[in-house]
Amino acid sequence: MDYTYDDQNIFAKILRSEIPNDTVLETEYALAFNDIGPQAPVHVLVIPKGPYVSYDHFALAASDAEILGYTRAIGEVCRIVGVQDNGFRMISNAGQDGVQEVPHLHVHILGGRMMGRMVQKPA
Ligand code: AMP
Repeated sequence: MDYTYDDQNIFAKILRSEIPNDTVLETEYALAFNDIGPQAPVHVLVIPKGPYVSYDHFALAASDAEILGYTRAIGEVCRIVGVQDNGFRMISNAGQDGVQEVPHLHVHILGGRMMGRMVQKPA
C-alpha cells in the first residue's frame, strides 16, 4: 500500500494557516472545522494534525498519543455541536472507491437532521 502524503492538499494548507477555516475545535492533535459545502445542518470535518492520508494509514502509522488525541477530539466535537443526544453520522472516505476528494484523513460529523439510508447505490 502506498501511503505517500501530498503536502499540497487543501487540509495541509489549512493546517499551515495558508487558507482560512471556520474552526470548531483545535487541540494538540486535531483540528475541527465546518465543511465548506455542508450536507446537513451540522457538518464538521475533524482532521489529525499529522500527515496521514486515510484512516487505515493513521491506524498503522500514528502514535498512541495521536490516536488517543484524535479520538478524544472527535467526541469533544460531537458535544460542542450538540449532536450527542439526537445522534449523528460519522463518515471517513478513503481512496478511489470511497470517493475521497481530499487526501488528508478526515471524518465527517453529520447531524441536525435524520440522515437517511447509510449508503446509496450509484445511479
Ligand atoms: P471527502 O470526499 O471525504 O474527501 O470530502 C472532502 C470534504 O472537504 C467535502 O465535503 C468538501 O466540501 C470539504 N472541503 C473542501 N475544501 C474545504 C475547505 N477549504 N474548507 C472546508 N471544507 C472543505
